[in-house]
Amino acid sequence: MKRSRFISMLLLLAALLLAGGASFAQMGEVADPVPYPEGVMIGDNPIVRFNLDELLVYQALDSYSEPAWVTELVEAGELPPVEERLPDNPQVILESGMSTGLGDYGGQWRDFSGAPTEGWNFCARQSQGWYGINYIYGESLLKSGPTFLRKDALEPLPNLATDWEWSEDGYELTMNIIRGAKWSDGHAFGVHDIMFTWEHVIQDDNVDSWTTASTWSIGGEPITLEAVDDDTILWTFPVAFPVQQLFNMTFRLFNICAEHVYAPMHPAFNEESDYDTFKTFQVQDALPVPTMGPWVAVDYQIDEFMVHRRNPYYWKVDETGKQLPYLDEVTFEKGPDGTGRTLGTMAGSIDHSNLENPSTYVETITRSQEDDAHFSIEWSSELLAFVLQFNLSATLGVEDERDQALRDLFRDLRFRRAVQHALDGDGIGQAVIRGPFLRAFPGGITPGSPYFDIDSVVYYPYSPDSARALLAELGFEDTDGDGILNWTDGPLAGDNLVIVLNTSVAAAETNTIGEAAVLLLQEVGVQVNLRPLQGPAMDDAIVSGRWEMRVNRTGQEFTASFTRCNELAPLTTTTPAWHRADAGERDLMGFEVELIEIVEEFCLEPDFEARKALMSRYITLFTENVYNGGGVIGRYGLALAKRFNNIPVGAPPFFYQWTWGNVIPEAVWVNPDEQMEQIFPGTVPVYDEM
Ligand code: CA
Repeated sequence: MKRSRFISMLLLLAALLLAGGASFAQMGEVADPVPYPEGVMIGDNPIVRFNLDELLVYQALDSYSEPAWVTELVEAGELPPVEERLPDNPQVILESGMSTGLGDYGGQWRDFSGAPTEGWNFCARQSQGWYGINYIYGESLLKSGPTFLRKDALEPLPNLATDWEWSEDGYELTMNIIRGAKWSDGHAFGVHDIMFTWEHVIQDDNVDSWTTASTWSIGGEPITLEAVDDDTILWTFPVAFPVQQLFNMTFRLFNICAEHVYAPMHPAFNEESDYDTFKTFQVQDALPVPTMGPWVAVDYQIDEFMVHRRNPYYWKVDETGKQLPYLDEVTFEKGPDGTGRTLGTMAGSIDHSNLENPSTYVETITRSQEDDAHFSIEWSSELLAFVLQFNLSATLGVEDERDQALRDLFRDLRFRRAVQHALDGDGIGQAVIRGPFLRAFPGGITPGSPYFDIDSVVYYPYSPDSARALLAELGFEDTDGDGILNWTDGPLAGDNLVIVLNTSVAAAETNTIGEAAVLLLQEVGVQVNLRPLQGPAMDDAIVSGRWEMRVNRTGQEFTASFTRCNELAPLTTTTPAWHRADAGERDLMGFEVELIEIVEEFCLEPDFEARKALMSRYITLFTENVYNGGGVIGRYGLALAKRFNNIPVGAPPFFYQWTWGNVIPEAVWVNPDEQMEQIFPGTVPVYDEM
């Protein structure tokens, strides 16, 4: 590979520089920005997008059906007929939005969880083991995961809320709720469950819920929710058209808690109970518990294995009236961490793994290309960014003259631009993994984000001469001839320019990127000392401000920008991590003041095109000012069993949500001749009489 040879040559050059010293190029011109190149697709699977009415509708169909073995249970008197189990207006998942088409019943999905299962009160923040278990278990008003599939609007999909309408002035939002749906134990679902969740989980400060009254407020003014009738709720907001709030009505943030399950244990209704009891009464292996999800956990061998069976009351169907899900069973092997998921996928015993760490891609890709591999890999759009960050706080963590001199330097655009010109992002990408997986990226909104605008990127190209010219302009000169530039002014005059760069011990690619940055910056006369840190030590450094530069994977705010808009500029005291406030004070740079104005408008703008125009300005300011230094952009990979049909084309393992929240698993199916033996065939969850 051309690029990796380049890195080798660079190593050689660095060695020569160290050995003999070198004279720097004459002060030259600084290169102008160039157009940021388009990314190269991997495979041929760009995301296929749909209008909402091509994906799903809510309507009664003429007839419904179910697996033959479920009909036998109905005939034996163990279940009501399917049309009585379904709501009046089930969600109908349409063939037009399916990647393969209408499915056959049967089969299973074998997955893996590397986190403990504490219990089943997700409403009070107990974990069911993540890794997909929580997505199967908890259902919310709206569903943000598949938003990446929409082309008509950048809004979450309807779920238990079927549709909604804003009042003319934008202060009220009326939501219709699915009619006549039932929990997996047959109890009626309805507005009463939503209002119980709002009043006695979210608004009750004693319940350790995922969102609280403070989440549901804007500028300190509360949002209110009230029941209109059995199928309708009404939101009232302190500002007009706060459409960003729709993203809070989704998984985890507004999962609906079953009133008939939780009210009897809630201290507001049961004076013999208390909040600890409320949180912990659903112990991990006392199954099944009621859910609105497509499968229900029926058996858990603690820390070993969990089996989920189809929910006979699930409220979605395909357009032929087949009750979903298509798959009968989902299993989760359990382990102490996620390693087992990758190993199991390679070995053929697990059906799904996420590729999130590029330095480990090769092994999985190689295995996927072998004839007997049972899985293939889908690549996301360019969402996975690693960048170099400068500590831009003027004061936080500044303890001596050296700290102050470095902060002043980092806050000078000429220095940040010099670093950007010195870093060969394409070459760094090849040092992490050869091939088309990573390429240069100037930071900010990721190319895979709906808000990306390639024409707004100010891209300073790889140009060591430009870096040298800028550093000379800043007054640096190698006065002692050792190959490293010296400060010529101020308290550090005479010292070499030395900067500490932190990387993450746990993320191998940050170390590879850091090592490449050391060599590339040395080439322009800057000595960088690499210091890998464990996660908690890095967190401490960020909070105390005692760090200089670091290599970091960027956050979800640069992809799902609207849902995390507060993190895009210095709007809170703790974000961005590279310019935290110091005891409430922050010396903002001029372009940061502009970023704040743009982002404040963005957060409250209901129109997508208007938001996109604001983000175009944001991208220009961010990249022109090198708010983050040069890095690399790449793709997540989603490894899934080849036998799965209907995985959405280009589905990312992580966008608004993780894999299970993205792939619409209730519509996934397996050809009968590829189905494997089930653990508990022919069974549905059975509840004790309450
Ligand atoms: Ca020197």
